[in-house]
Amino acid sequence: MPSQSKKIYLDHAATTPLDGGVFNCMLPYLREVFGNASSQHSFGREAANAVTSARDKMAVALGISPGELYFTGCGTEADNLGIKGIALANADRGRHIVVSAIEHPAVIESAKDLTNFGYEVTFVSPDGEGVISAEAVKEAMRPDTVLVAVMSANNETGVIQPIEGIYNVVKAHGVYLWCDCVQSAGVLPMSRFPADGFALSAHKFYGPKGVGAACIKKGIKFSRQHSGGHQEKGMRGGTTNTPGVVGMAQALELSLERTAEDGARIAALRDEFERQVLSHIDGAAVNGGGAQRLPSHSNISFEGCEGQNIVFLLDLNGVAASTGAACSSGATTPSHVLSSMGLGEERVKSAVRFSFGRNNTVEEVTRTVRILKKVISAIRG
Ligand code: PLP
Repeated sequence: MPSQSKKIYLDHAATTPLDGGVFNCMLPYLREVFGNASSQHSFGREAANAVTSARDKMAVALGISPGELYFTGCGTEADNLGIKGIALANADRGRHIVVSAIEHPAVIESAKDLTNFGYEVTFVSPDGEGVISAEAVKEAMRPDTVLVAVMSANNETGVIQPIEGIYNVVKAHGVYLWCDCVQSAGVLPMSRFPADGFALSAHKFYGPKGVGAACIKKGIKFSRQHSGGHQEKGMRGGTTNTPGVVGMAQALELSLERTAEDGARIAALRDEFERQVLSHIDGAAVNGGGAQRLPSHSNISFEGCEGQNIVFLLDLNGVAASTGAACSSGATTPSHVLSSMGLGEERVKSAVRFSFGRNNTVEEVTRTVRILKKVISAIRG
């Protein structure tokens, strides 16, 4: 296996490394306790008990009841289940949905799929800092609006959205609010989150890949999005990923216990990084820097450069960053998030996302800025 030890990982928004303690608590369920949690014998019961404990633990951490949690295979699937599931099951309330323009493709594409079923979608633009205002959401709603989807924090800029205000506006109109919490879960406090439903993904908070959850509040009708067995009360068929949900619950609990400590340390690294970049590299501008952001994210444009070239050269020099969402980096289309903020083409195309995590150090920050400075001068030639 290639050594990653000298490399600097600044792409925690794409995924985080699995926490050692989380790995240890998953291990028995990858080996000895291998039963199918739906089986009736003791092997199955043992696995089912672990799934129940994981569900209870997550429910406590989220301030919800365990029955409101539906385990899925990832955050994307949770978004699909919540958005399509709620909209389709409540078509009698209307076929119009409001979606923020800065959402992840998991949300945007789910909303677009609904147009095949006669739904209309209105996209709401953010302000220049990447914030979706409650007023803008209010203006976009119509008498036939059934669902509004606004994310808790953006994956490219880290900008935190005013969800509480949006929830109040949405509820005043008797509409459901779906919130993609994939970037903020484990970073911001999540207890009694102000939304009718929300999505999580374990690999964003030092848990395993391939497991996520949709929380859908009690009493809200929704339809399943794939057909199968009776798992998750028949709303998400498929053999339960026992080690995955055990790991997700442990990772969420651990992350939430550490939010204050990790948040302050990571924000200090990010702020120091931005301070050094802005003082050592000309023509650099932070995108969304004027808004409240997650501690980890830093999205910076570098005049006269292509973001893709910067990321490529950084990688050659041992620094992992990205041009935006991991699933769309590599694509040549400019970021829909930065474009919707009204940033010019040059600024959008020259943007790079750096996202810091638990294991980064001040020494890595300084080393990255040194490498970045060289890379930018090489590109500017
Ligand atoms: N929503 C947001 C905001 C994300 O950042 C991501 C992943 O990057 C997803 C949804 C999809 O999550 P997953 O990778 O678990 O499918």
